Amino acid sequence: MTTYSIDVTLSQTKKEKPQSDQLQFGKVFTDHMFIMDYTEGQGWHDARIVPYQPITLDPASMIFHYGQSVFEGLKAYVTKKEQVLLFRPDENFKRLNKSNDRLCIPHVDENLALEALKQLIKIDREWIPTAEGTSLYIRPFVIATEPYLGVAPSDRYQFIIILSPVGSYYKEGIAPVKIAVESEFVRAVAGGTGTAKTGGNYASSLKAQQLSDSKGYSQVLWLDGVERKYIEEVGSMNIFFKIDGEVVTPSVNGSILEGITRKSIIELLKHWDMPVTERRISMEEIKQAYSEGKLEEAFGTGTAAVISPIGELFWNNEKMVINDGNTGEVSQKLYDTLTGIQNGTVEDPFGWAV
Ligand code: PMP
Repeated sequence: MTTYSIDVTLSQTKKEKPQSDQLQFGKVFTDHMFIMDYTEGQGWHDARIVPYQPITLDPASMIFHYGQSVFEGLKAYVTKKEQVLLFRPDENFKRLNKSNDRLCIPHVDENLALEALKQLIKIDREWIPTAEGTSLYIRPFVIATEPYLGVAPSDRYQFIIILSPVGSYYKEGIAPVKIAVESEFVRAVAGGTGTAKTGGNYASSLKAQQLSDSKGYSQVLWLDGVERKYIEEVGSMNIFFKIDGEVVTPSVNGSILEGITRKSIIELLKHWDMPVTERRISMEEIKQAYSEGKLEEAFGTGTAAVISPIGELFWNNEKMVINDGNTGEVSQKLYDTLTGIQNGTVEDPFGWAV
């Protein structure tokens, strides 16, 4: 096994930790961070854990101008036996490198990244909240730091990991949300950057999100960028439907982000011998299934909420109320099992918890 040399400088002061019932998402950060530099010709170097602090960058740094950056998101939990668990972290670092490929950013050593993350969490372990549903959110990211205004891949980067204690996504049990189907703006097209976790995808999604907020919907359902017919994702989650007993989700098509929760759900449903299919799904088909009383459940999936049931879909001036606006059986079972594996209360037959 390779051992990595990671320099550690501990913080002289400790910040006050928030009360667990007051935790929000991504507003408070722990005492330390991991940082590593890349310089062309030298590769990645100076892996270090340092006190959490602002970074100083030249205003010409390429990240500020052309958005050459990637990021990841995952969580750590403490079990009742005081063990710290990560959920499939290797998948996140694999996806980070896939995103790096698309953005012309050099690969990060996935084993080093995981080792750095483990060391960082060990140092900031007391920051992992323990109340039900709470966790430590982990944000690894890479930014282009060369001061240069030419449009080209940067010759310098920083890879950073920061940690943030976060509250329960659902305060009172999982609750269905209302979703508006977005027929004007699109998130991604095949050949674009939709399959990469890069900041620009999220910046360009804000407009549609803002409009749907103002109409009382909590997220948008994204359609394909060519015909505005086929379903892609919901907000920043993948999407599943249960139609006439079968669970379906849009197939990987070059524009959706390949979620780790999505992949886990497909594996879990197969493990349970439940029918699950990845294929193209149109809004017309959903409408038809709804009219025939066959649209049984719909839900979004992602690290933040794990499962987010959809209680209402608004499309072409029509409302579709799914499962009387309640959480469906399969949605609830998936939520209970996945969150149980993540926090160590449900046996993990897959070896997902690390
Ligand atoms: N789609 C998008 C656009 C996302 O940002 C995310 C969150 N990472 C997901 C789907 C869900 O991915 P995961 O299950 O890996 O969190």
